[in-house]
Amino acid sequence: MGAARLFLSLAILLPFAASAAENLPTTMDPPPQRSQAEAGDKAPETSPPADEAAEDLPAAMTPPQPRPQKQAAGEAPGTTPLPSEEASCRQRLRALGVAFEEAPPIAEPQGCMAPHPVTVSRLSATVALQPPAVLTCAMAEASARFVRDHAAPLAERTFASKLATLEQASAFVCRPRHGTQKLSEHAFANALDWSALVLADGTRIEVRAHDEKKEPRESALLAGIRKAACGPFSTVLGPGSDADHADHFHFDLATRRNPFCQ
Ligand SMILES: [Zn+2]
Repeated sequence: MGAARLFLSLAILLPFAASAAENLPTTMDPPPQRSQAEAGDKAPETSPPADEAAEDLPAAMTPPQPRPQKQAAGEAPGTTPLPSEEASCRQRLRALGVAFEEAPPIAEPQGCMAPHPVTVSRLSATVALQPPAVLTCAMAEASARFVRDHAAPLAERTFASKLATLEQASAFVCRPRHGTQKLSEHAFANALDWSALVLADGTRIEVRAHDEKKEPRESALLAGIRKAACGPFSTVLGPGSDADHADHFHFDLATRRNPFCQ
């Protein structure tokens, strides 16, 4: 456990990491009512004093709410301001129609880490992500672009029905790669496993090996997605790669010289 202690000692030197480290045991379990509670705590401080409000407002009007919008990305209570690349990534997510919320920073003793993750529930105005997935902003953006540019058009062309939902099996998970000591890209919120696509007409296409003759459309759609993913994602694995990927696509943004697609 020497390494874990060293990690903790180093982490305490960093202001943002220090607060995450203090919360280690509960990092993944934020109190669900936290933002409400904090908004409630702040309301009395930020509301104008009664006499000021009475001067400025007609008697029937209530004082303005201090926080009218529930989602204030980048301004989550208790977090430091976002680095500029993270802030601009969030602007791009909004332009893509991605629905997301800020997620608590991830910093676990095993080395699993993501300082500025987001929880994504939609990849576009028309494509939901179920269940919502904890991802880096970069991975969320890459996934949204890939769905918009490749997966959704391929699905519609093949089945004459629009892609409505992407079902995922795994996003952030603090674990090593199967059979190794090395941390998976999932440990950095930098990977997303696709398990099924659901179309607007209710058709559900599971990611698995499909018989080319009996299920030509399923087979063609998944092959098309898999081919197109090589490049937009740096790692592409799926049915046939190995036993671990028989029932999902694994896409990630691992740093590599060339994409690894199998
Ligand atoms: Zn995976």
